[in-house]
Amino acid sequence: MFYDTGKPACSKDCQPSCNCGKYVEIWNNVFMEYFKDKNGYSKLAQKNVDTGLGLERMAMLLQGKETPFDTEIFKPVMEKLEELQKENYIESRRIIAEHLRSSMMIIADGGRPSNIDRGYVLRRLIRRMIRHLNKLQINLDELSTLIDINVENLKEMYPELEKNKEIIKNTILEEKNKFVKTLANGEREFEKQIKNINDGKIPGEVVFKLYDTYGFPPEVTKDLARRTWI
Ligand SMILES: [Zn+2]
Repeated sequence: MFYDTGKPACSKDCQPSCNCGKYVEIWNNVFMEYFKDKNGYSKLAQKNVDTGLGLERMAMLLQGKETPFDTEIFKPVMEKLEELQKENYIESRRIIAEHLRSSMMIIADGGRPSNIDRGYVLRRLIRRMIRHLNKLQINLDELSTLIDINVENLKEMYPELEKNKEIIKNTILEEKNKFVKTLANGEREFEKQIKNINDGKIPGEVVFKLYDTYGFPPEVTKDLARRTWI
């Protein structure tokens, strides 16, 4: 189900699957009809419809906002980030707001950072959030404040956040400390690796090692390289 925002069509081929922003998908129905195995497809004995609405998108439409980040779900955290930031990147603020809320939900639901399955998803969410806090030059100790703001804002809808507030805080802060250490080790490794490079070109193996062993996504390595050579 799509909502037409009323914006002008981007081209004559503009239609609901276009991602120019004219149409917003708010709901979908998945009709489960087939079973697939090594023999191919066969009809399911029991067919069903799986349906889901995007809460944030519905809130966005009902509140007449441009993006989910302008709704009351994210607004308090978004405003705090704007107040705290020393660099101004709207994309980073949105990533932090989204990842922080998701992380809090997963932890309230019993998830913990690890290197497998959903624990790994959680770890990546927290670490990506921290990279963006760094990008905005926000002191990482503010995470505690941001968590408080989210709990306060969302506790009516999600009482489990308030109930697990201490666990949420401890888990995120502990993962933050681990990641800060990893980043420091990675930077040392980076310094070591680039000693013999004079042409500004970092070999793929180095980029990979930094990613694989130190959890540096290529864009972090790129940022370091920029700082080093420019
Ligand atoms: Zn379009």
